[in-house]
Amino acid sequence: MPTGTDGDLAERVDVAVVGAGFTGLSASRVLAKHGARVAVLEANTIGWGASSRNGGMVLTGLKLDPHTLAKRYGMETARKMYTDSLASIDLVEQIVREESIACNFSRCGHLEVACKQSHFDSYARSAEVIAKEFKHELRIVPRSELPREIGSSSYFGGLVDETSAGLNPAQYVAGLARAALRAGAMVYENTRALTIERTESGDFRIGTNRGSLIAREVLIATSGYTSNLTPALRSKVIPIGSFIVATEPLRDSLASELSPRNRMIYDSKHYLHYYRLTPDNRMLFGGRAAFFPETETTIQKSAEILRRDMVSVFRQLKDTRIEFAWGGTLDFCFDTMPHAGEADGVHYALGYAGHGVAMATYLGAKVAEQIAGLSGEIPFAGIPFPSAPMRLYNGKPWFLPLAGAYYKVLDWIS
Ligand SMILES: Cc1cc2nc3c(=O)[nH]c(=O)nc-3n(C[C@H](O)[C@H](O)[C@H](O)COP(=O)(O)OP(=O)(O)OC[C@H]3O[C@@H](n4cnc5c(N)ncnc54)[C@H](O)[C@@H]3O)c2cc1C
Repeated sequence: MPTGTDGDLAERVDVAVVGAGFTGLSASRVLAKHGARVAVLEANTIGWGASSRNGGMVLTGLKLDPHTLAKRYGMETARKMYTDSLASIDLVEQIVREESIACNFSRCGHLEVACKQSHFDSYARSAEVIAKEFKHELRIVPRSELPREIGSSSYFGGLVDETSAGLNPAQYVAGLARAALRAGAMVYENTRALTIERTESGDFRIGTNRGSLIAREVLIATSGYTSNLTPALRSKVIPIGSFIVATEPLRDSLASELSPRNRMIYDSKHYLHYYRLTPDNRMLFGGRAAFFPETETTIQKSAEILRRDMVSVFRQLKDTRIEFAWGGTLDFCFDTMPHAGEADGVHYALGYAGHGVAMATYLGAKVAEQIAGLSGEIPFAGIPFPSAPMRLYNGKPWFLPLAGAYYKVLDWIS
């Protein structure tokens, strides 16, 4: 990772960005390129959050299926959202190219695999809506043809989208940070924003553990790590743990038996598994093995569960060693949608629900364009942003064990 800006905090900036992950760095890159004086405040180090720890899957679509999107927001808005999801991948590709970020970006496509016959049957309906309404082609893979895509007999069929991509997230977030720094943004590490208050002149004073700074605009880019700095936002974001194990490097022949086309793969469950090969032929296998955010205990417990699950998908890996295990925190909103907008004059973009590699890059850039006065509609800005049902949540996710159990039952019955 690059190191951030040395020295004292700037006294006054145009925009203060809280959080140095994809959202904050993508936004600060755009703002700095448009001549704004930008300070990124990062409580830990550059990319410390989910941005350096994820599966590196750069996926089309949103967490919700197109049918649900259309039912909830109308076809016109759903179409714009889907178009944005495609544009978000193009943007990642463009940034990687323009900023020469060596992160193994590759349009390898993704494969969704069906854990039940009913899930496979729904793929045909989704592909039809996506082709007709969104003009985007997906390919159904019947069970008999799955061996061309995956070396496992666990699934009832698949759905391939050739547009999706893969990358190394830690290298990508490091490259984004270098690009933002090159453009002139200041990135202050180990700088936790503690308070945000309005000054008499209408600016914001941001208090940190290293003193305060004044900013005309503030962007909150804290995703699953959103805290009481912004209590209203915190009560709308559910921090959910996601965990990954990586095996020792596999022989070439075994790697291509498991994933002949080297796709980004995930299954159709609520309590889903996602997996891929890394460029050095490790199987990287992730999932929400525990719903709670990462601690030493949840990582260790999750690693055991994920290893067992990985072997149930790929018997071929029963004697393969796990060399790494880690976890991070995802940001889910109560409607499972991304949100970008402004509350009390403070901008925010979050709620990517496991689709943040592309969407955080994109919404960060879009919000930055709006702050810079370049217009541009964001479909995720106009939608309702719900709080917890009956406001039974103040940022402490007491209901996660219940939610985990609920989704396990749902996977069992649906
Ligand atoms: C294990 C795992 C696997 C995932 N896999 C995928 C995947 O394959 N594909 C995909 O699209 N998405 C995936 N995601 C989701 C994706 O990583 C996130 O949506 C994305 O990284 C969010 O980026 P961000 O910049 O908004 O937030 P983050 O990268 O989480 O950054 C937020 C930052 O804010 C900082 N912060 C918080 N509070 C303060 C404060 N008060 N002051 C200063 N700084 C503060 C934190 O230190 C943190 O660095 C995964 C997530 C996890 C955890």
